[in-house]
Amino acid sequence: MKNSLRTRLALSYALVAIVCVLIVSIITNVFMEKKFRVYTIQNQEHENIQLTNLLSKQYNEKGYWEFSSINDIGVNAIEQGMIIKISDPSGQVIWDASVHNNGLCKQMLEHMAENMNKYYPDWDGKYQVKEYPINVKDSKIATLEIGYFGPFYYNDNDIAFISTLNKLLVSVGFFSLIFALILGVLMSRYLSTPIIRVISTAENIAKGYFGNRVTEKSKINEINLLTSTINNLAATLEKQEILRKRMSADVAHELRTPLTTLQGNIEGMIDGIWDTDNERLKSCHEEIIRIIGLVGDLEKLAKYESDICNLNKTKYNILNQVQTIIHNFESDFKSKGVKLNSYGKDETIFADKDKISQVIINLISNSLKYTSSGGEVDVSVIAKKNSVELIVKDTGIGISSEDLPFIFERFYRADKSRNRLTGGCGIGLTIVKAIVDAHKGTITVESEPNKETKFIVCLPKD
Ligand code: ADP
Repeated sequence: MKNSLRTRLALSYALVAIVCVLIVSIITNVFMEKKFRVYTIQNQEHENIQLTNLLSKQYNEKGYWEFSSINDIGVNAIEQGMIIKISDPSGQVIWDASVHNNGLCKQMLEHMAENMNKYYPDWDGKYQVKEYPINVKDSKIATLEIGYFGPFYYNDNDIAFISTLNKLLVSVGFFSLIFALILGVLMSRYLSTPIIRVISTAENIAKGYFGNRVTEKSKINEINLLTSTINNLAATLEKQEILRKRMSADVAHELRTPLTTLQGNIEGMIDGIWDTDNERLKSCHEEIIRIIGLVGDLEKLAKYESDICNLNKTKYNILNQVQTIIHNFESDFKSKGVKLNSYGKDETIFADKDKISQVIINLISNSLKYTSSGGEVDVSVIAKKNSVELIVKDTGIGISSEDLPFIFERFYRADKSRNRLTGGCGIGLTIVKAIVDAHKGTITVESEPNKETKFIVCLPKD
């Protein structure tokens, strides 16, 4: 059965309250009952002794019993549920409650038996008689027989006490139940309100309203975590949406230039404005190569971005990797007249070797692209405590401070006209950043125009 959080919480609180009150009632009843039973038995014995002492005082110095006082004491004892009989040592009866007021005795005994049977149906009390010697100056002058329900019985006061206690427990139970229900409703409202807000925000996000955010703050950590997670999700989706739109616009823009040139050239040749000579065809071919390059870069970027979660990590020596790549670049550097150096010690990292290769290749090829003849490129591997730094430094054209914040963005090129000549389309660094981010690393760049550029990739060792 599916219930709302509110109903569930309110019912759970009520259930807890009921169970607690029941347990307290049962424990109280069982313990109280036992203790009270022992107490009444001890109390009866105590009263019996007190009664004996009191009666001994009714024997005056002249050797006579004060019958009027014995009457009062005897009647009072009947009212307490005790039937007394005093006999002298020869067995002659001095005072007998059943003789004095047999009706009252019977009535009291019946009343008590009725009381006990009413509250304790399995009560096994029996009428019993106990004897106590009445002594005056250390000599026994009479025997007192006290008859009562044993081993224990409750008089009216005791029963009133027990029933008040039970009523109190019932009232406590009732009020706890009401309190638990109110608390449950308030608590569930406190919990469910932000959750309902999160649900409606999530629904809006699902409909494409990525600008929606949960603004409420809660004092409960988990709820705050939930709202911030939803807000982060919305922000990521919003960013993705902007990127997706910008990507389409950028791709269209990037394709338009070579396609327009191609169109112009081919139309010119068709209309006979230009000769269909080798040079014209070469120019068309270059534009087609540029388009193929762009599409290839886009494919690569799409692959890396979708592949980002599938890192095939292994432990390997990054210096060996750098040296192999440098070796492959040697002839390109030589033909351009740029010096290529590598520095560092053997360092093991846990990373996706192919993807890190792409990072190193992109950074070194950029350095080669943007460094003119006579320049120098240094590639270093430096070990830090928990990470390894890969530094690619060149003495090339540098990047202006206005361009620096944007160079990792798709299709961003610091100098578009020059880049058309170098063939770059502004995706290489985007790929580098995507791979470094996937490895939970960082990439930073420092540059001084016309002096040097330094890319620092920091990769965690594990
Ligand atoms: P591209 O394919 O155009 O080189 P990248 O994403 O690799 O694209 O680089 C983006 C831009 O950053 C480049 O167009 C260039 O302006 C600048 N850049 C990248 N590396 C360097 C470098 N080593 N020296 C100077 N500028 C660089």
